[in-house]
Amino acid sequence: MNDVTQLRQAVVEAGRQMFERGLVAGTWGNISIRSDSGDQIAVTPSGRPYTELQPADIVLVSPDGHLLAGQRPSSELPLHLAIYAARPDVFAVVHTHSIYATACAVARETIPPCLEEMVQAVGGGVEVAEYALPGTAELARNAVQALADRTAVLLANHGAVACGPNLSETLLIAELVEKAAQIHAIAAQFGGARRLGEEDIRLMRQFYVESYRQLKRKG
Ligand SMILES: [Zn+2]
Repeated sequence: MNDVTQLRQAVVEAGRQMFERGLVAGTWGNISIRSDSGDQIAVTPSGRPYTELQPADIVLVSPDGHLLAGQRPSSELPLHLAIYAARPDVFAVVHTHSIYATACAVARETIPPCLEEMVQAVGGGVEVAEYALPGTAELARNAVQALADRTAVLLANHGAVACGPNLSETLLIAELVEKAAQIHAIAAQFGGARRLGEEDIRLMRQFYVESYRQLKRKG
């Protein structure tokens, strides 16, 4: 996707879905999408309710954060830009404050690789990035480091970040992370979640990525 109107519309639609699915409240959280050409990033504006967002409100920036259109981008723009810079495979980033993922983040508790659909979509467990103040370059660095080659990471005492090859899959990853965090918390009452084996995780991830690529080729 390279068309500016389409990029902005996709961010607005994802914002509504993120809000309706209970992954954020108020104006918290943020969303971005990178154009296929890589030279434009559309990101939610700072401090605007998701239910009121219009395509023209979505801010466009260059990969180094230079403002191309719109007004004030989300204060977490450095986090989004750092992920795009580190991960050529990523074309969408979603930052949520969903309840159970954030509970793990405040406890600084990794979500273990215990749920099949989550390890397929994420590639393993969800690690907690070292604490840094919101909106800082340090937070962005810490998040990229803890994210490594997976598609989700927790921000200590803050929330969760999901990333992926497109916006719809990235929203799904954010939901799966929330679900896995919830299951992890419930399983703690039964003695704790059992981790999947490394080789099983690798095989499930490989299967997922290959099926996705086939679907994309067909689509
Ligand atoms: Zn946040």
